[in-house]
Amino acid sequence: MVKIGVLALQGAVREHIQSLEACGVEAIAIKHKEELNEIDGLILPGGESTTMRRLLDKYDFMDSLKKFAADGKPMFGTCAGLILLAKNLVGYNEPHIGVMDVTVERNSFGRQVDSFEADLAIRNVATSFPAVFIRAPHIVEAGENVEILAKHEGRIVAARDGQFLGCSFHPELTEDHRFTAYFVEMVKEAKEKTLV
Ligand code: GLN
Repeated sequence: MVKIGVLALQGAVREHIQSLEACGVEAIAIKHKEELNEIDGLILPGGESTTMRRLLDKYDFMDSLKKFAADGKPMFGTCAGLILLAKNLVGYNEPHIGVMDVTVERNSFGRQVDSFEADLAIRNVATSFPAVFIRAPHIVEAGENVEILAKHEGRIVAARDGQFLGCSFHPELTEDHRFTAYFVEMVKEAKEKTLV
């Protein structure tokens, strides 16, 4: 049995926990860096990346999150969470956690259409998935080992780089838990490997 945490400094935390529970795994809100030791995988939710970064610094999370990544544990960034994981950010000199080999641009679907829903085909997950976008970022460029999982209007909106999964949209805001379930599988596989 795996236990998955949801970074709970700001943003859509409860919905992710419910989605994980719907997938049959134990889920906990992570409010202190020490709690990272209890979990096998971590979801970084949507919200506001600049606010989340400020809170990550305030609560001294950065080194522990980098160690969590270096230990090979899966991390799933949704929307602002994807911005936190990216190695490169358009218009910024420094990344935040900077572990996923993608370049991400913030707020890239225009100010007029702040939020919208689109039907996406997600590779290995679903031919039709209801994706909710809220002031969403997108992946401008992906490293050679990054698997592109979904595009919307020609832009990359979901990708996987080994242990790291990221998407522009909010998979926790509908009753469709298939993308969360895909991450749960990643966590189970990673845990099995460390037990062998
Ligand atoms: N626009 C937000 C940011 O740049 C992300 C929005 C979201 O997570 N829904 O941080």
